[in-house]
Amino acid sequence: MQKSVMTRYILPALPYDYGALEPHILGAIVELHHDKHHRTYVEHANVAIERLVEARHSGELGAIAELERALAFNVSGHVLHSLMWQNLSPGGGDEPSGKLAEQLARDFGSFDTFKRQLVEAAATIMGSGWAALVWEPVSRRLGTVQIHDHQSETTQAALPLMVIDAWEHAYYLQYKTDKQRYFEALWQLWNWDDIAKRLERVRDIDLALPNTTDDRKAA
Ligand code: MN
Repeated sequence: MQKSVMTRYILPALPYDYGALEPHILGAIVELHHDKHHRTYVEHANVAIERLVEARHSGELGAIAELERALAFNVSGHVLHSLMWQNLSPGGGDEPSGKLAEQLARDFGSFDTFKRQLVEAAATIMGSGWAALVWEPVSRRLGTVQIHDHQSETTQAALPLMVIDAWEHAYYLQYKTDKQRYFEALWQLWNWDDIAKRLERVRDIDLALPNTTDDRKAA
């Protein structure tokens, strides 16, 4: 039997120093978050994919449900954290402009209503999770999702463009139980150029699912 190619996941370098997001996010949080938490998801994703490849080669697929669950959790954690580091910037903040601003206004009514919805999605997660701004390619619109852990309650095919980590490890060292202040501080850090670039990349995706939507004005 021919062996398949196995691609390993790697921890990406931070695009800035640990302390670059201060005072909004402490360097100590960024260091732990990247070097420990994110690294662990990468390592566990690689363990899961190695075990899955072994299982495939041996034909012993008895643990597949557990491996699929481990892969979904850890690969999703890797993707979300990789995205988050790029979404934030010491030179960020303010409001988006251009096509991203137009699309936000079209789909949410205004930037402020978008911001309120995304923060509310992050603030109301039960347990650990994320909120994300996503491109939903079936209806070709921006929306929000509330993600439990790293992967539950996502909308299939919706692509995350901008993410808020609402796990305690993202803020507790600095903000303790006042996570609302952490959610607010993020708006001094958003790299709108990065988020706009992501929208440009995905907005022409065609899933080839005809007759699945119908445009009308919101009431
Ligand atoms: Mn995290």
